[in-house]
Amino acid sequence: MTGTEFDVVILGGGSGGYAAALRGSQLGLSIALIEKDKLGGTCLHRGCIPTKALLHAAEVADSARESSAIGVNATLNGIDIVKVNEYRDGVVGRLYKGLQGLVKSREVTYIEGTGTLTSANTVDVNGTRYTARKAVVLATGSYARSLPGLDIGGRVITSDQALQLEWIPSKVIVLGGGVIGVEFASVWRSFGSEVTIVEALPRLVPNEEEACSKALERAFRKRGIVSKTGVRFSGVTQSDVGVTVTLEGAETLDADLLLVAVGRGPNATGMGYDTVGIAMDRGFVLTDERLETNVPGVYAVGDIVPGLQLAHRGFQQGIFVAEEIAGLNPRVIDELGIPKVTYCEPEVASVGLTQAQAVEKFGAENVEAYEYNLGGNGKSQILGTAGFVKLVRQKDGPVVGMHMVGSRVGELIGEGQLIVNWEAYPEDVASLVHAHPTQNEAVGEAFLALAGKPLHAHA
Ligand SMILES: Cc1cc2nc3c(=O)[nH]c(=O)nc-3n(C[C@H](O)[C@H](O)[C@H](O)COP(=O)(O)OP(=O)(O)OC[C@H]3O[C@@H](n4cnc5c(N)ncnc54)[C@H](O)[C@@H]3O)c2cc1C
Repeated sequence: MTGTEFDVVILGGGSGGYAAALRGSQLGLSIALIEKDKLGGTCLHRGCIPTKALLHAAEVADSARESSAIGVNATLNGIDIVKVNEYRDGVVGRLYKGLQGLVKSREVTYIEGTGTLTSANTVDVNGTRYTARKAVVLATGSYARSLPGLDIGGRVITSDQALQLEWIPSKVIVLGGGVIGVEFASVWRSFGSEVTIVEALPRLVPNEEEACSKALERAFRKRGIVSKTGVRFSGVTQSDVGVTVTLEGAETLDADLLLVAVGRGPNATGMGYDTVGIAMDRGFVLTDERLETNVPGVYAVGDIVPGLQLAHRGFQQGIFVAEEIAGLNPRVIDELGIPKVTYCEPEVASVGLTQAQAVEKFGAENVEAYEYNLGGNGKSQILGTAGFVKLVRQKDGPVVGMHMVGSRVGELIGEGQLIVNWEAYPEDVASLVHAHPTQNEAVGEAFLALAGKPLHAHA
């Protein structure tokens, strides 16, 4: 083997690519991992981790602001955003260092540079050709999209620039009420901004259970976040001091900034994919359920593959592909079994089918749903959060969906994904014990109720 020949050549070192590299090397494959920017990709540097650090700072700010209500007389003296950013960068930096060490220790060959796919088994980086003996894995991720005619620049920003801001807007408009939009809205509100969300669809987090969207909108309203749903954006102008956003119907909104959070597009053009004949659809790389493209020996993982754009999906797909290439014949990943968490305050977390999807799949007469209100949950009362745990089951069958709203409910979805993916029956879960007083107990209570024996709930 020469220095440029490997079992597997991976293009892109984000969640999907590095997971494939780590698992592949564990399985004895020689791996080249090509990355043009920073190992860890969007998730570590511009996505999950930095945003969640900001959300934690936001939670601390809210706690300080609300502390006197529970007899702790602290005052919030302000947000030092430069310090907040330092804290965030510290978290990212430590994880980045750890990941670099991990990749090195697994003997993955890390190649810095921009790669281009030049054939089904070769990738060029700065004039050097890397050859894959077994497979190439495409993992080039995604970028923040905009709308046609809506140029990013100045005071019109995406999440990339939002994370670099060294000031807190006093007024901000968030275009897009999906995950990224509501998370930034939540952070800025906690930091004291006036926030308006504009969403063209009829509700916030439109991919979630309808009841969750309603509860989130209610909670946001209480927090003073304005949600304009079912309203289309028509244009924006900007000056040195602010932006003016026009909505369909001619309503205008003024603010310091417009955050464009209308989704993420696949980063899959200009890298030779089309030249090599990889089948694509609207820029996304198409694969079969085993994540192989139409070109044998070329796989794709992560955000470039149509479906949920989540880091843990990328990790799982990376692991899957490495095992597939190593001949382990892994089990196909069920996209529906992938948990989703929106980390705003309050959080939204879910896995599986919504009630509407279950009704569509099984028929209304074959679906049963139950909503346990966090009002009856001791720990949620202690935390002062409202919300619910909603379960959807096939009548006389397994639980097919779990949907939650409330502070910290993201931490409860681990149990939810086990239940849904293991196709547990409410009766199975109802006999298991949940510690008191935890929010987790609300999950247990919901199952007790769905199994026909509610404890702290009305039948
Ligand atoms: C603001 C924000 C918050 C998010 N929060 C969450 C969250 O809380 N939880 C969650 O699960 N997901 C979250 N996500 C989504 C998550 O970040 C992505 O799903 C995940 O990073 C996708 O991984 P990936 O490997 O497909 O792509 P990426 O992480 O985008 O990695 C792709 C890598 O490929 C590199 N690359 C691209 N082209 C080339 C080339 N030609 N040559 C060499 N290298 C190349 C890029 O530099 C990049 O490092 C968030 C995203 C954003 C933007």
